[in-house]
Amino acid sequence: FFFFFFFFFPTFLPSQFSRTLPLTGIPLAATVAFSLSDLSRCSHSLTLDLAAMATSAFGTTTATSNYRNGGAANARNLPKNSSVKSKTGVRKSAPGSLGGGGAASSSSKDDAGVPGRVRVAVRLRPRNAEEMVADADFADCVELQPELKRLKLRKNNWDSDTYEFDEVLTEFASQKRVYEVVAKPVVESVLDGYNGTVMAYGQTGTGKTYTVGQLGDEDMAARGIMVRAMEDILAGVSLESDSISVSYMQLYMETIQDLLDPTNDNISIVEDHKTGDVSLPGATQVEIRDHHSFLEILKLGEDHRFAANTKLNTESSRSHAILMVNLRRSVKGKDSAVSSENSSSLQTVKSLKPSVVRKAKLVVVDLAGSERIHKSGSEGHTLEEAKSINLSLSALGKCINALAENSPHIPVRDSKLTRLLRDSFGGTARTSLVITVGPSPRHRGETASTIMFGQRAMKVENMLKLKEEFDYKSLSRRLDIQLDKLIAEHERQQKIFEDEIERLTAEAERQLSDAERNYVQALEKERSKYQKEYLESIKKLEEKWTMNQRKSVNDENKLRHKDVGSNVLPNAKESKVAPIEENPEMKKLLEKETAHRKAVEEEVWTLKTQLAESRRSEALQSSEIVKLRKMLDDEAHQKEKLEMEIGKLQSHLLQLSVEADETRRQLDSGGSEEVLSGLDSLLHQSRQPQSDNSETGDKESVAKLFEQVGLHKILSLLEAEDADVRIHAVKVVANLAAEEANQEKIVEAGGLTSLLKLLISSEDETIHRVAAGAIANLAMSETNQELIMAQGGVRLLSNTASSAEDPQTLRMVAGAIANLCGNDKLQMKLRGEGGIKALLGMVRCRHPDVLSQVARGIANFAKCESRASAQGVKAGRSLLIEDGALPWIVQNANNEAASVRRHIELALCHLAQHEANARDMINGGAVWEMVRISRDCPREDIRSLAHRTLTSSHSFQAEMRRLG
Ligand code: ADP
Ligand code: MG
Repeated sequence: FFFFFFFFFPTFLPSQFSRTLPLTGIPLAATVAFSLSDLSRCSHSLTLDLAAMATSAFGTTTATSNYRNGGAANARNLPKNSSVKSKTGVRKSAPGSLGGGGAASSSSKDDAGVPGRVRVAVRLRPRNAEEMVADADFADCVELQPELKRLKLRKNNWDSDTYEFDEVLTEFASQKRVYEVVAKPVVESVLDGYNGTVMAYGQTGTGKTYTVGQLGDEDMAARGIMVRAMEDILAGVSLESDSISVSYMQLYMETIQDLLDPTNDNISIVEDHKTGDVSLPGATQVEIRDHHSFLEILKLGEDHRFAANTKLNTESSRSHAILMVNLRRSVKGKDSAVSSENSSSLQTVKSLKPSVVRKAKLVVVDLAGSERIHKSGSEGHTLEEAKSINLSLSALGKCINALAENSPHIPVRDSKLTRLLRDSFGGTARTSLVITVGPSPRHRGETASTIMFGQRAMKVENMLKLKEEFDYKSLSRRLDIQLDKLIAEHERQQKIFEDEIERLTAEAERQLSDAERNYVQALEKERSKYQKEYLESIKKLEEKWTMNQRKSVNDENKLRHKDVGSNVLPNAKESKVAPIEENPEMKKLLEKETAHRKAVEEEVWTLKTQLAESRRSEALQSSEIVKLRKMLDDEAHQKEKLEMEIGKLQSHLLQLSVEADETRRQLDSGGSEEVLSGLDSLLHQSRQPQSDNSETGDKESVAKLFEQVGLHKILSLLEAEDADVRIHAVKVVANLAAEEANQEKIVEAGGLTSLLKLLISSEDETIHRVAAGAIANLAMSETNQELIMAQGGVRLLSNTASSAEDPQTLRMVAGAIANLCGNDKLQMKLRGEGGIKALLGMVRCRHPDVLSQVARGIANFAKCESRASAQGVKAGRSLLIEDGALPWIVQNANNEAASVRRHIELALCHLAQHEANARDMINGGAVWEMVRISRDCPREDIRSLAHRTLTSSHSFQAEMRRLG
């Protein structure tokens, strides 16, 4: 209790679903744990398959086949899930009926057709006077949810296992109601001619005898099952034609004693090998004619009943009390078909009208206390005796286990009890088991084993559930597939887009380079063309000029020949110029040349504009490329957003699978339960193993969760940008961390480090609160405590503590530090890093939940210190006193909140163990508190510890003497 500390968080639920545990005041949140665990696995309803039993060790009787071939013949061939249907039907028509609402007596053989089911009810005894005082500070170890037919067994203050029964009877259940749901259906089927058994199983003092054997002569309302059963039987038979006889026996140390004749103390069991009937011919059989005679019989038997007085309860017994009611009924005419197998009935035929006798047997067993011998204090038994005392009960347990497991061998011959019940327990019989439990947490172990016994006596009926689970699984799978498809489609689109961009860019580049190349080529061609033309025309001009030159020389010579002696020179000069100017040919040539040149110039100009044009288009293309780039960027952005969306979707998927679990849970229980309890139980069931095979089942489902979502993925979401996702993620981690089986995986995956980091990196108080809670849960193991210390966890927690406002945050931080305080090795370091100061700082918030954690931390610390001092490892004053904790401790030693007070009282006792602390304690006024504790503390262990401490300390003794 002291060192265990669990916090659970509502993951997807608003806070109104939180509830408060009576003892601690700490909300036990209805929490979603991420488990897809099979609810049917959790509920563990195991059944004695009576059909199987009938054909196996409990014997197939003629009656069996007749029963089956008779009214129940149809039902025998029903598909398995019909039993679920009929069960639901019964629940509706006769709520609270254990045995299927007495369907055997009605013409509706629907339920009678499913005989193979031991109905198990659990009944809680109210606190007795002693428990009122001794357990005043503690919550009951069980919590009942009768409307859900569930029982929660507390593992510690924070944690419980949930079990389902056919009926859950609270401490307020009336005897009448108990009779009606447990025994009445069995009695009705006995009146119909079937054998029936009602058994009460439980620890001594939990109310077996009260439930089964109470006579109720003082208080009518207190009448137990035996008395009420006889009343119903008497009312249901006609004493003219029918007969009732009873035997009342006790089975002790494998000997059957007659409670109606104490001298008859070794009755043997006789089995008819043909019919399988079991009888006790040696036992006294008393004919019952009226109720009064029956009460007399019971009283007589009670007087004789051997009661091994035990420490627990003086009325309790180590023996089994067995009441056997034999019923013989005459059945007329057509009804006789049902029991025509009964050969003895033929002897009763006396007239022409055939009549048969229908025999039936009701066995009511008040079993011996289920506790192990040593605990009951039945001292003085030899080992052999002890073995023999327990033999019948353990043989019964073994038979139930074997039947529940469908084992081919049922060890029915191992004990007298199982031999005796052979024909009453299974086969044609209808059987009800009421298991009784007490509320006290001190007997949690016995209560747990009683509950497991009851659970094994029920059978898994999970056809419907399995189908539903399949539906939800497929929903989750469909979502997964959709998500995968989306991701793939996105990838595909991305690829197509990128390819298109690439293609366009390449195309543009190619066009550009083509244009450039063409331009250069064209330019070069033109240039060389005009150069060539130009050169050619020059050459032509030169040729012409040379020709003209030659011609004019000839002409001159001719003239000289004609005009000798005349002044020719000036003329000659004139004639030389004139021909050029006047030569029309030359002129034409020149003009041609000029036109040519103009044409070339025009050509160049055209090319130039072409070039400009091509430059412009180039610019255009590059702006196109810029645009495309931008589109590409946009797309990348889009992709990022999509990826975020996928992240969110994944977290929603996570949520959906949890909600699916929750819905399935609700559907399983008929859809009528509230969300809170559904989730609450889901959490517990998924978190806690309830038997060996469910443990593996749960582990599997957690493994499945990790596999499906991936712990790393969840942890990576702790750093998500979206604050909602972050909060979700930390809650998921916190819930996973609440389960011991996950803690190692979380720490391995770096979860602890991430959680510690969140304390600095996040400003959000919710995140602080949840992270601190998760750290508190992880801080339950020594290895993790060391890891937290090594990563500076105390400082981080202290910082969080100093800035937090919300009491729940402070509670989580204080809880985490309190867990660290319980580690012997970390004392110095914890104190050195301000752990104690941080705890004391948190008392500024006066919330009792916070104070209780602070007190727990101090008590843990004091306990470790006290251990260290006792081992001689530590000397000198307590570090708690050094750090100034004493005034607060003394002030709060009598705090009105029990949870605070209890821790402080322990802390004081630990501190007072050592003389080194005595002076400070005396000066601080702690002695008065110690005296008060030694007198008034409701817990005996603390009270006597305080007393011992006071009387053994010289300083305290001296101070008390001084104070008179
Ligand atoms: P068991 O037979 O299992 O040893 P008992 O039937 O003798 O236990 O019960 C022990 C004590 O508790 C008796 O004093 C009984 O009257 C009381 N008791 C048991 N169940 C109830 C109940 N449901 N309501 C009131 N008192 C009960
Ligand atoms: Mg008893």
